[in-house]
Amino acid sequence: MADAVVTGASVVTCPHGGWASPVGGGPSRVSSGGVAVLSGDVTYTVVGCPASPPCVMIRVLGGAGRVTISGRAVLTTAVTATAEPSGDRVRVTAAQERVRAT
Ligand SMILES: [Zn+2]
Repeated sequence: MADAVVTGASVVTCPHGGWASPVGGGPSRVSSGGVAVLSGDVTYTVVGCPASPPCVMIRVLGGAGRVTISGRAVLTTAVTATAEPSGDRVRVTAAQERVRAT
């Protein structure tokens, strides 16, 4: 069972529709479709969350495990992500389906 690899182009939103963009997780030497593949511990900053209090960040815990870039596990859609400060689970979707990892 392989999951799609998450890249810098992957769309991530908090559970309330706020827009999240990645910080860290790069720069990566591996890209898919010209967009860097994210690896290691990645944090997303959230803007535009309508909740009260609003989500300010999304923390992604761990990568896929077996596939690494420079020793850091690549992110796939199987990762666990939580919004903070609410602690709600966040579903990470991949912008591409060509590259998969287990
Ligand atoms: Zn939110």
